Amino acid sequence: MSDKLLILDLDETLIHAELVPLELPHAFVACPYFIYTRPYLDEFLAFCQQHFKLAVWTTGNQLYADTIVAHLLGSADQLEFVWARDRCISHYHSELDCNYYIKDLKKVKRHGYDLEDVLVIDDSPEKLERQYSNLIPVAPYYGEPADKELKLLMSYLASIEEADNIRSIDKRSWHQQVA
Ligand SMILES: [Mg+2]
Repeated sequence: MSDKLLILDLDETLIHAELVPLELPHAFVACPYFIYTRPYLDEFLAFCQQHFKLAVWTTGNQLYADTIVAHLLGSADQLEFVWARDRCISHYHSELDCNYYIKDLKKVKRHGYDLEDVLVIDDSPEKLERQYSNLIPVAPYYGEPADKELKLLMSYLASIEEADNIRSIDKRSWHQQVA
């Protein structure tokens, strides 16, 4: 197991939530959404738990985060932390006239983690705009049954898990390295 911390986003990274059910089987219902799990999710989570210290950080609320984690992993006992929206920073985007959330890894650093050993998997790059160099960007998942992102990610993570400094690796084009 590497000593790296892997922080996973939930919505559109591991799962997709809908208030109105899609025309495909949902995995479970929670808070009160129909939840669709990304293909290869169970295998992916088992791989991550074996190879990394694992955490979850979502811009959803804490109840949502805890409920989804309980469904996906049984409990949060094996995780370093489960963080939600209240740990994010809200920013106003003047061009789009709306607020968006930022996950500032300084908060992770303050908990004793060296950012050279922290990876974040998220479908929304803007949420990591303060620490792009820690991000592995993934395509958003909206319920596509043929999605292979998590399968590809396992190969990619295995190839970088022993890297000395995760921030010095260009991770933007990671798909090309495992295709
Ligand atoms: Mg997301």
